[in-house]
Amino acid sequence: MEIPVAHLSAKEIVKRLSSYYNKPIEGKPEEIVNIVREDIISNINDAKIGITGANAMNMIKILSFNATGSIIPSFVDVISGVSKTADVEKKFIKGVYHPSEIILILLDNKRSELANNGFKELLYCIGCGNCLLYCPMYNTIGNEFAQDNYLGGKGIAYYSLYNKEKNEKLEFCLTCGKCKENCPLDLDIPAIIKKIRGEEISSEIYYFLKSHAIWIYYQLLLRAKAVS
Ligand code: SF4
Repeated sequence: MEIPVAHLSAKEIVKRLSSYYNKPIEGKPEEIVNIVREDIISNINDAKIGITGANAMNMIKILSFNATGSIIPSFVDVISGVSKTADVEKKFIKGVYHPSEIILILLDNKRSELANNGFKELLYCIGCGNCLLYCPMYNTIGNEFAQDNYLGGKGIAYYSLYNKEKNEKLEFCLTCGKCKENCPLDLDIPAIIKKIRGEEISSEIYYFLKSHAIWIYYQLLLRAKAVS
């Protein structure tokens, strides 16, 4: 399975790859890319089937533009159906250059449950990552405001709902609304976070004060580091 590593430092990537491949790997980006590329190519050569995720073209445009600023991603894979020909006497023959069969799997993966529990809006997220670029807390404490591969406020909200546990890192959200302002779909992430944290006014005051105290503390630390 392919997952982005843009949120990890080279040191962290090297640590995980060394453990995965069971051999020491140097921290140079070229070497990291070469090792992973060779592994992927050898697996593709041996593969009997290919699995890919599906995005509509318009979604690719929104996703790419908001995540990287480019009009279209550098790699787009379009599957139009089975490989076929009807060149010889108009006889339809499947699987000329492969694939000969395409299976579409729709995975619910608790999505219906989330939608039925009042969190349908969260499922509209296209994963562009724009919310992270504008999140003052994520830009201050980085992956401390993340759980596994679920980054920032939206990620932790999703993680909490998916695992049916109120993740403690939800308290880092400042409910400033920067993510909503900059979301191409206008998803109200702070409202979702407030709903998961508990909507009582007293608890919101508590979370507001605590998150801002944490943010100010780390901002002061960063500024002190920059000066020294
Ligand atoms: S509302 Fe929360 S998740 Fe959204 S930008 Fe502000 S701190 Fe980040």
